[in-house]
Amino acid sequence: MALQKYKSKRKFTKTPEPSGKSAKKNLWRFVVQKHQASHLHYDFRLELPEDVVTGDIVLKSWAVPKGVPQDFGIKHLAVAVEDHPVEYINFKGVIPKGEYGAGTVKIFDKGKYQLLDIGEKSLKFRLAGKKLKGNYVLFNLEGKNWLIFKSKK
Ligand code: MN
Repeated sequence: MALQKYKSKRKFTKTPEPSGKSAKKNLWRFVVQKHQASHLHYDFRLELPEDVVTGDIVLKSWAVPKGVPQDFGIKHLAVAVEDHPVEYINFKGVIPKGEYGAGTVKIFDKGKYQLLDIGEKSLKFRLAGKKLKGNYVLFNLEGKNWLIFKSKK
C-alpha cells in the first residue's frame, strides 16, 4: 500500500507535514532537505514510481547523515527510509517535539533530475539543482544501506 509506512509513523493532527497522496504523473523532481532532528542529517528524495519501475509516484527517500557529496571521490552512506508523498518536496517547517522526526526541516536544494540507468543494485541519475549538479550514483550495499556519490560518466 502506498505510503502506509509514512502515514503510520505520523499524527497529522500534530505535525505540519503533508498527509499526502501518491501521484499519477512523474515530474522528475528531487529535493534535499536539511533535517535538524535529534541528529542532523539530510534527506534525499527522488520522485519515482513506488516500486521504482511501476506504480504510483512517490518520493523515494534516503537519510544521508553527511549530506549528498558535491565533489568527486566522496562516497556517503544513504539509508533508505519510507516513501514520502510527492507534496513533501516543498515541505519545510518545524515538526513539534514528541512527534516522529521532531525538529526543523529546511530545503537545502531542489530541482529536476534525469534518470540515466536502473540496475539491480544501483540507480544512476543526473541532478540539475542549484547546488547539486551532474551525474550521481546510488549504490545498494545491503538492505537499507546505500552509498551516494558523484560520478564522472
Ligand atoms: Mn529526516
